[in-house]
Amino acid sequence: MARKKFVCGNWKMHRTAAEARTLAREVRAAAEPLAGRVDVAVAPPFTALFAVGAELAGSRIGLGAQNLHWEAQGAFTGEVSAHMLAEAGCRYVLCGHSERRQLFGDTDEAVRKKTGAALAAGLHPIVCVGETLPERESGRTLEVVGRQVRAALSGLGPDSIGGLTVAYEPVWAIGTGKTASAAQAQEVHAAIRGILKDLAPGAADAVRILYGGSVKPDNAAELMSQPDVDGALVGGASLKAIDFTGIIQGAIR
Ligand code: PEP
Repeated sequence: MARKKFVCGNWKMHRTAAEARTLAREVRAAAEPLAGRVDVAVAPPFTALFAVGAELAGSRIGLGAQNLHWEAQGAFTGEVSAHMLAEAGCRYVLCGHSERRQLFGDTDEAVRKKTGAALAAGLHPIVCVGETLPERESGRTLEVVGRQVRAALSGLGPDSIGGLTVAYEPVWAIGTGKTASAAQAQEVHAAIRGILKDLAPGAADAVRILYGGSVKPDNAAELMSQPDVDGALVGGASLKAIDFTGIIQGAIR
């Protein structure tokens, strides 16, 4: 089944609102002509969402957030709800990025609740999964990734599963300059597709599975040429409009 490729930039904790506005303007100028053939989004820090949303208004480049809390409101100091993100103009939200899991204690159960809250608010979750280096080296990649996918999607019906994206991001490849080979990525993506077919047979073929982990303009095309690699979640290289656009071009080739 032909799935439209999707490239999303994760700006992490980079760029003030003013700086993010400039970057968004550069990304719009460079990437908008390509954004019809590929779905494109950027996820700036919370404080820059309104500024970037204003800069992207009327374009085909979507706005995303990097995290959310699963409750709608309440005494959760420092947190932001799905409805708040939707009001800020977000279409997408990352759930369970490995930096959240590793540095801020996001558990599989938290990722499940975040994914459900995002869907309930009409947002499109990008559910991030991936193994650490010791897990890969001990041959546990598919077990770990499978557990993360099943946990995040547990309790969701086929329509909900059809309304999300999965991002496979091996932890050892994030921000390290080490990329999974195209074959390594395809192996895990195919396994994820198999789990999706198990959970939602009618929806699985439509779900996009992105690869993330040191994607650059020079490796993007090969990674995205794999049958189950439907796009890229891009960290460092999304902070330069020219590199981000080069990666989007890799999705078209
Ligand atoms: C990420 O943060 O999701 C990511 C993949 O980072 P990088 O591209 O820098 O490895």
